Formats: sequence, structure tokens, C-alpha cells
Amino acid sequence: MTSICEVTMEEQVIEVGKQELTRYLTRHNLRKTQERYAMLEAIFSMEGHFTVDAFYEYLEEKFSFHVSKATIYSNLEIFMRANLVVKLQLGTMTMYERLDVLHPHYHLVCMNCGKIMEKSNKELHESLISTKVRGFSALYYSLCMYGTCSACARMKKNNKKKQ
Ligand SMILES: [Zn+2]
Ligand SMILES: [Zn+2]
Repeated sequence: MTSICEVTMEEQVIEVGKQELTRYLTRHNLRKTQERYAMLEAIFSMEGHFTVDAFYEYLEEKFSFHVSKATIYSNLEIFMRANLVVKLQLGTMTMYERLDVLHPHYHLVCMNCGKIMEKSNKELHESLISTKVRGFSALYYSLCMYGTCSACARMKKNNKKKQ
């Protein structure tokens, strides 16, 4: 069960995101369509990273919301410029996720099966974000680590045994 406190927290985050979008759209004379806000809300309700294809299906299945992939791409572009969404290149996959400075994490990509995992590490995060770079103040980072997942490692080991 989610506590009332968590719900309001989540709603607050969405509200702040919408305000940020409104500011961006106003500044750039772009239309404040319902579609844009609905898409942003959907992204904020998703866990972690997603592909455009997965987002397209998510909108259809969860919200019965029909938009073309071209519309999704153009809106993601706007969300990125408004610093609400980030684009990630994870192995061969192009992914997107909401820019969430409150939940910093990095990605692990299995070079064998392409599986992507999220990990958070407080020490790593603090050391990265507190690194002083002259003439620059850090807001977020995008970090991706490549290797082999445990399932693939196990499979490799078993294959070796069989030989
Ligand atoms: Zn992520
Ligand atoms: Zn793997």
C-alpha cells in the first residue's frame, strides 16, 4: 500500500514537471496541448528508462492514448530541451528516461544479451556530483557500465563445462 505521503510527493513531482513544461512552451511560443501534458505525465509515471516503441505501447495499453511515433519523437525532443527527459545510448539501444535528480542511478549493460539494469550507489554519486569543475556546476550525469550479466556468466560457465 502506498502511503498518502508518497502519493502527494509523486503528484508534486508531476506538478513541478508540468509547470516547467508550461514555462518552456510559453518561452518558445509552442502550443500547450493536452497531448503534451498527458505524455509528460505518462513518462513521470513510468519506472526507469524506456524505448520509443515501449512508450508507444504503454500509452495505448495504459491510457488508450493514440499518438503516432513521430508525435512521440517530437514531444520527447521538447521534453529534453526543457530538461525534463534525458536520452541515453545504452549499448545498441536508444532509451529515454525522466530527468530525476532525486533518484540518481547508473546503468549496467550486458554486452552479451543486451539486458539493462539500474543501480544506485551513494558514494559514487556523491563523489561524481561533488567533483568541482572550474567554471561549471553539475546537475546530473549519465553513466553506463558495460560487462556481462550473471545469467550470461552462468551460461558461459556451463557451456565451458560441457566442452
Ligand atoms: Zn535509468
Ligand atoms: Zn546477459
